[in-house]
Amino acid sequence: MTVELTHFINGQHVKGTSGRFADVFNPATGEVQARVPLASKAELDAAIEAAAAAQPAWGATNPQKRARVMMKVVQLLNRDMDKLAEALSREHGKTLPDAKGDIQRGLEVIEFCIGAPHLLKGEYTDSAGPGIDMYSMRQPLGVVAGITPFNFPAMIPLWKIGPALSCGNAMILKPSERDPSVPLMIAEIFKEAGLPDGILQVVNGDKEAVDGILDNEIVQAVGFVGSTPIAEYIYSRGCANGKRVQCFGGAKNHMIIMPDADLDQAADALVGAGYGAAGERCMAISVAVPVGEATADALIEKLVPRIEKLKVGPYTAGNDVDYGPVVTAAAKQNILGLVQSGIDQGAELVVDGRDFSLQGYEEGFFVGPHLFDRVTPDMDIYKKEIFGPVLSTVRAGSYEEAIGLAMDHEYGNGTAIFTRDGDTARDFANRINIGMVGINVPIPVPLAYHTFGGWKKSGFGDLNQHGPDAFKFYTRTKTVTARWPSGIKEGGEFNFKAMD
Ligand code: NAD
Repeated sequence: MTVELTHFINGQHVKGTSGRFADVFNPATGEVQARVPLASKAELDAAIEAAAAAQPAWGATNPQKRARVMMKVVQLLNRDMDKLAEALSREHGKTLPDAKGDIQRGLEVIEFCIGAPHLLKGEYTDSAGPGIDMYSMRQPLGVVAGITPFNFPAMIPLWKIGPALSCGNAMILKPSERDPSVPLMIAEIFKEAGLPDGILQVVNGDKEAVDGILDNEIVQAVGFVGSTPIAEYIYSRGCANGKRVQCFGGAKNHMIIMPDADLDQAADALVGAGYGAAGERCMAISVAVPVGEATADALIEKLVPRIEKLKVGPYTAGNDVDYGPVVTAAAKQNILGLVQSGIDQGAELVVDGRDFSLQGYEEGFFVGPHLFDRVTPDMDIYKKEIFGPVLSTVRAGSYEEAIGLAMDHEYGNGTAIFTRDGDTARDFANRINIGMVGINVPIPVPLAYHTFGGWKKSGFGDLNQHGPDAFKFYTRTKTVTARWPSGIKEGGEFNFKAMD
C-alpha cells in the first residue's frame, strides 16, 4: 500500500492540500512505496509566516538553553539510529552501514552546535575612547531556508538545521522529494527534544516551493546543496532578491596516483571512493589520474579484480553488500547513457557493468560497476558529473599534467593525491584550486569543527557549511558603540570623530 507522506508544520504532521504529489520509490525493488505532497506557494507562505511568528521567542532564548535542545537531539538520534537508517536505506537505496554514516556525519554537526554559546560570543573593546566601550554581537537572521539533495537525506538537512537553529533562527527545510521520510523523522526528533513548534518547518515540494522560498520577503537566507545548474539558479535568484545565499553544487573529483604511491592502498581507496553509495556522493572519486604509463598499467591491473568482486545488492541483504541501487530509473538511464557515450567517443571500457541484473530485483535501479581507461578531457564522461558507479581513468604523462587536469576542470569540490613524497603532497595542497584536499585520503570530508565547501562550479557564496563558518552564515553582526555620560555634557558634536 502506498503511504501518503506529509509536511511537518507547527509541530504537527500536516497533509498536503495542493493536490500535487511525487512518487517515492524503493530503489531496490523499483516499487512506489509512498507519495510525497508537493507544497503550493500558499502552503509554503503559511509555513513561513508561522515560523516568523515563532522565531522571536526562540531567538531571545538564551544560547545555552538552545544548546540543550541540541544535546537532547544527539541523544535521540543515537536512540533512533537503526530506525532512521532503515528508513533512509529504504528510500535512498544505500547500505545500512552507509546510511548510519550519513546520520552520524549529521549528528556530529549537532554535537558541534552544542558549543553555540561559545561560538556566538561577540567581541568587546573596553575604553575604545574616553568612557566609550565597543562591542559586537551575533544576532539571528530570522527565518532561513535549507534546500537539500537526495544523496544525504540525514546529513545535509542536519548540517543546515543544527547551526541555523542554534543561532536562534527558524528554518524552513525543503528536503529532496525523492527521500523525504528521514527529514520528517528528524523534525519529530527536534520536537521531542524540546524545540518549540514552528521553529523547524519541513515543507515538501519541488520547484514551486523552491521558487516560493526564493521570492518570499520573510526568508533572510538560503542554504542549498544539489546539482550545479540548480545551485547557480538558486544563487542568482536568491541574491537578486536580497537574500544571503550559499549554494553547493556538483563535482568531478580527481585522484592523482603518483609512481611512488602504495598502489594497493591507492586501488583499495579508489574502489571505496568510486563505487561506495553507487557513486552518488559529491565527494566520490570519479576520475583516477595515474602518472606515467607503468603506474597506469599497474593500477588498472590492481583495480579490475577488486571491482569485479564488488557485491551489489539491496540493503536488506546485510553487511556484505558493497553498494545498492541508484535512486531512480531516470538516474540509471542517465548513467547508462553516459557509459554509452564513453564507448562511442573512444574510451576503453575495462569493466562493463551494463548487463548487471539481480535475481528477484529485476525492476530495481541497480547499476553494475564500470571502469573506463584511456579517457580524454574532451569526452562527455570526463566533463559531466555521472553520479553513478563509473570510474574514469585519465592517463597523465607527468605530475604537472595531472595537476593541470584537476585545475582545469570546471568543478572544484574535492581531490586527492596518493604519494609517498611529502614535497609533492605539499605542492599539490598549496597549488590546487579545489576546496577539499586529501593526501593519501580518498574522500577528504572535513569533520564537523572544520568547514565543508568546494570551489569553482562546486560552490557559490563565500562561507562554507558547518564549523565556524555556519555560525557566521546564520547570524548578522551588530556593533555597538556605547558611552555612559557621568555628568552633564554640553554642546553637540558636529565632526565625524576619530577615537583619541
Ligand atoms: P538536485 O539539484 O536535482 O536537487 C537538489 C534540490 O533542488 C532538491 O531539493 C530539489 O527538489 C531542488 N530542485 C530540483 N530541481 C529544481 C528546479 N528546477 N528548481 C528549483 N529547485 C529544484 O540535486 P540531487 O539530484 O538531489 O542531488 C545530487 C547533486 O547534489 C549532485 O550534483 C551532487 O554532486 C550534489 N551534491 C553536492 C554536495 C556538495 O556539498 N557540494 C553535497 C551533496 C550533493
